[in-house]
Amino acid sequence: MKNETKKKVLQKSRGELYITRERCKGCGICIKFCPSGVLAFSEDFNSKGFHTPIAVKPEDCTGCNLCSLYCPDFAIFAVRGKKSK
Ligand code: SF4
Ligand code: SF4
Repeated sequence: MKNETKKKVLQKSRGELYITRERCKGCGICIKFCPSGVLAFSEDFNSKGFHTPIAVKPEDCTGCNLCSLYCPDFAIFAVRGKKSK
């Protein structure tokens, strides 16, 4: 029983990432500050002519929401969930 509880606590959380491309101004802050290296610039542009971030390693997103905290345009956020085994 004790071991089961510990296992649940240690289970890594997972984030579902949401990016509103049209709000993004391509500053790259979210890419720079993501501690898991999840994000990179996409090669295409949004309608304002900016390269926007994409998740190149979505499986590594922990849902920490640092990208959301740093984004000046409220263009990105994550919802935290549980990583499936
Ligand atoms: S929620 Fe955290 S781990 Fe996921 S992309 Fe944003 S900064 Fe990176
Ligand atoms: S921090 Fe926001 S505005 Fe800057 S690149 Fe990321 S999503 Fe776009």
